Amino acid sequence: MTHIHIDGSQGEGGGQVLRSSLALSLVTGKAFTIDHIRANRNKPGLMRQHLTAVRAAAKICGKDCDDAKIGSVRLTFHPGKVRGGEYAFNVGTAGSATLVLQTVLPALLLAEEPSTLTLSGGTHNPMAPPLDFLQKAFLPLVNRLGPTVDATLIRYGFYPAGGGEFQVRIQPVKKLSALELTDRGGFVEKRAKILFARLPGHVAERERDTLLAKTDLDEPQIEIDHVRQSAGPGNLVMLETASQNVTELFTGFGELGVSAETVAGRVVDQYRRYLAADVPVGEYLADQIVLPLGIAASQGSGGSVFHTHRLSRHSLTHIDVLKTFLEVDISAEELAKDRVCVTIR
Ligand code: AMP
Repeated sequence: MTHIHIDGSQGEGGGQVLRSSLALSLVTGKAFTIDHIRANRNKPGLMRQHLTAVRAAAKICGKDCDDAKIGSVRLTFHPGKVRGGEYAFNVGTAGSATLVLQTVLPALLLAEEPSTLTLSGGTHNPMAPPLDFLQKAFLPLVNRLGPTVDATLIRYGFYPAGGGEFQVRIQPVKKLSALELTDRGGFVEKRAKILFARLPGHVAERERDTLLAKTDLDEPQIEIDHVRQSAGPGNLVMLETASQNVTELFTGFGELGVSAETVAGRVVDQYRRYLAADVPVGEYLADQIVLPLGIAASQGSGGSVFHTHRLSRHSLTHIDVLKTFLEVDISAEELAKDRVCVTIR
């Protein structure tokens, strides 16, 4: 029986190494031990969000994981048979619930039964995919691989108060298809959404004014959404580009002590980089889509290829973890400045 050893401190040494190992262990049936979990983070070891991910992974394959605790820096995981069904996972703090989904989704895409998941915790957290990103950018690409997945917001949860909730329905398939995404096609629509909760309205207005001054968007393309049902304050600026072949979404998070102009300006920087590079897949989408594409290739679905920016350290680490679990070859060829062709066979 294969038992894989993972060094959790490799690359940028964050939570992704753990989450991807859990996801791939569930898909392949290979057990693993991970050491030095999140060694390069301020508070190493399992935090609440990671512990919820470990428990969620165990739950969908009928196992328990009593030894995993907050602060654990080592974990051994023996996967069982994955079953789709109705599950509820609650991070219990403002920790990201979308990252818990990232852990269990790949296996549930290939389960024998459909699933309905209710996830509670943070829905829009810094350093995690906001739910809108999953709905607009990531899940539509996943659906192009064969399954049908949709996510519905029930309640916003912003860091640090949390208290959010969303539901995900998954119609699985036996095998994931390959994807070719080398060209984004023409822009169909560009728009922005500014969310604010329990903060003065001028924050959102100043963010809108920054977008108007620094992007090609006009006022009707910018929606301001005052979220009234929220356990705590929150502020996000999201810039979306829907192109013929892909939708991307860039996010800036309001932070205490950072001006509204700076928050909006940071999103504009990401947006401009994407427009200038003329690639279909942005940095975050690249590191998230590579895992399902790796699974597709390992199932014999043929090769996938996509164009993206220069790969982040995060993506490179992620690719190393994928190669440890799956018999796949992943290569990245630099075609131009900020344009890389990723091939997965
Ligand atoms: P880690 O930092 O290792 O816990 O992993 C963070 C995960 O969140 C990665 O899958 C990133 O692609 C994703 N992520 C972080 N920030 C964003 C963002 N602004 N939009 C979309 N995904 C994000």
